[in-house]
Amino acid sequence: MTIAWESAGGSDVGRLRKGNEDTLRMDPERGIFLVADGMGGHAAGEVASEIAASTAEGILGDALAAGVAGEGIDRALVLAFQQAYEAIVQYCRANPHTRGMGTTLTVCVIDPSGTARIGHIGDSRVYRLRDGTLHQLTHDHTWVQCEVEAGRLSLEAARAHPLSHILTRVLSEDVEPTVDLHTIDLRPGDLLLLATDGLYNMIDDDAIEAMLGSGQPLTQLTHQLIDAANAAGGSDNVTVVLVGITPAPVKRAAE
Ligand code: CA
Repeated sequence: MTIAWESAGGSDVGRLRKGNEDTLRMDPERGIFLVADGMGGHAAGEVASEIAASTAEGILGDALAAGVAGEGIDRALVLAFQQAYEAIVQYCRANPHTRGMGTTLTVCVIDPSGTARIGHIGDSRVYRLRDGTLHQLTHDHTWVQCEVEAGRLSLEAARAHPLSHILTRVLSEDVEPTVDLHTIDLRPGDLLLLATDGLYNMIDDDAIEAMLGSGQPLTQLTHQLIDAANAAGGSDNVTVVLVGITPAPVKRAAE
């Protein structure tokens, strides 16, 4: 099925942090959407997420402009993460005070044929709302997620755990990236949400599902999600990108 889409997104520093280390990119024309959540002292987190976002956007934009499609997009995603990693390594070598900086990177490339290809490292997330039900599409690379899967921690306890921020995989100079790749189908009516942990650590999936299911315009939903995270404490930067899938416009035959 051929699809089209509309999008909206926003990022907020939250109520406790001094700077915003999150980054987002939306390129609706080419169907590239991403969020990155940086970490590191002396504002290095901002640098890390910005380097990752701009590198990935550039590589994927070039690939799509060159006609890359289908499984070729997976290869472009892996290349994008590899190049982002190398750009971070280079920056850290040139600026030793930023050593140790890192970032999550979660990228979604949407194809008009009705698929989304996702590349992912870290604990930012992609969700899909379909028929009113929210489903998390990405796997958190966190210590608490490993504990949940091993049956040693409940989901509720994981959210409140003091070590919930410890990542098992992140884009940094320490290790070459291993990227999770997912391909999902999309149909009109689906709503994709890309979010950093500043959203889902503040409000639970049921609340997110209820908001996304309200049928409000995407710009309004963006504000509502960010406001809800801040109302619940806003202890972290919060970033959301929403992509609403619509039917492709019917092409009229030339008269
Ligand atoms: Ca965060």
